Amino acid sequence: MPWNDVECHPSVRKNLQRALFNNMLGGTNLIYGPTGAGQVAVARALAQTVLCETKTNDFCDVCPTCIRVRNRAYADLFEFRPQKATYLINQLREMQYSAVMQPYAGDKKIFLLHDAHRMNKESANSLLKLLEEPYPHNLFLLLTDNISGILPTIVSRCRKIRLAPLPIDDLSRKLTANLPARAAETLARAAGGLPEMANALQASHYLEIRDIVLEWIKNVRERGSNLISMADEMAKKTQIKADSPEDHPDPNLYFLDSPDLTKREKDRLLEKYCVRKHLTVLLRLIRDGMATVSGMNHVPFLNEDKREEIERLWNGETPQTMIVKFEKTLDTLEGIERNLYMPLLLSDLLLVIRRGGEAR
Ligand SMILES: [Zn+2]
Repeated sequence: MPWNDVECHPSVRKNLQRALFNNMLGGTNLIYGPTGAGQVAVARALAQTVLCETKTNDFCDVCPTCIRVRNRAYADLFEFRPQKATYLINQLREMQYSAVMQPYAGDKKIFLLHDAHRMNKESANSLLKLLEEPYPHNLFLLLTDNISGILPTIVSRCRKIRLAPLPIDDLSRKLTANLPARAAETLARAAGGLPEMANALQASHYLEIRDIVLEWIKNVRERGSNLISMADEMAKKTQIKADSPEDHPDPNLYFLDSPDLTKREKDRLLEKYCVRKHLTVLLRLIRDGMATVSGMNHVPFLNEDKREEIERLWNGETPQTMIVKFEKTLDTLEGIERNLYMPLLLSDLLLVIRRGGEAR
């Protein structure tokens, strides 16, 4: 998969290729953009380009080095993720130690830092020190979806690579390699043109979860289901599929590997994670609802394939009442973070989802 196939905006690809061609890449690069904009794909492609045995300023994806990098089995490629909510100082020490040593195989050692914004003061300062005294054989690739969370002194040391969403048609065409055209277009739209977001949505069973959430809305709005028992059921029903494939590990699941948590604590975090995932989908359906009730036809619809159903479900609402539902969902997400009692939070939310336009 040479550069031409990397899932990123054509302008990003062009800029990077030019930088590579002119030998202007630099030792520290910050790859940033909205969640799922393709940070990982671009970082891996850069790593492959720097290391590839057969090509210069591009990569072949078939030489032994390219394959090892792709499979994260290359001796001089080090990928780091925050071990807990933030990077631990020990991880930074490990980086420092490794950065000093010469590479084993080629002439570069590559450090790829996922979620580079998740650093406390101590680890951020330690990273800064590392970047201030670089070794010529080091290449740092910092990845983030929250550039403002990174120390400005770190940001200023980096070459900044900003990733933008792809045109929907481009992304949808790429997705048809693994999906029927209609599902591909739905995901491309739902992801707002962000390639890794689309992969993540696919991996997180977006379409399946959407069906569940649509069913919830139908139950409260059309079938008059009992809110209390529904809320109970929602907390249970969401216990599905928290798996995410190796290639797109969900950073929110970092706790599953933590040796410091008991099984009970992990289950509890997993439950929160699942409910959160469903509520995020609900937000997207409310957002589409806002677009329909306000008649904003120019706003891109996230769930185009379900447009009729969504229009019918939110029938009777006004832009104001939809905003109330949106905000209530955000409040619920916050309440979950604060460990408030889940069934109560959910039944409260359902009450607001049920309420029609005239009730406020
Ligand atoms: Zn190669």
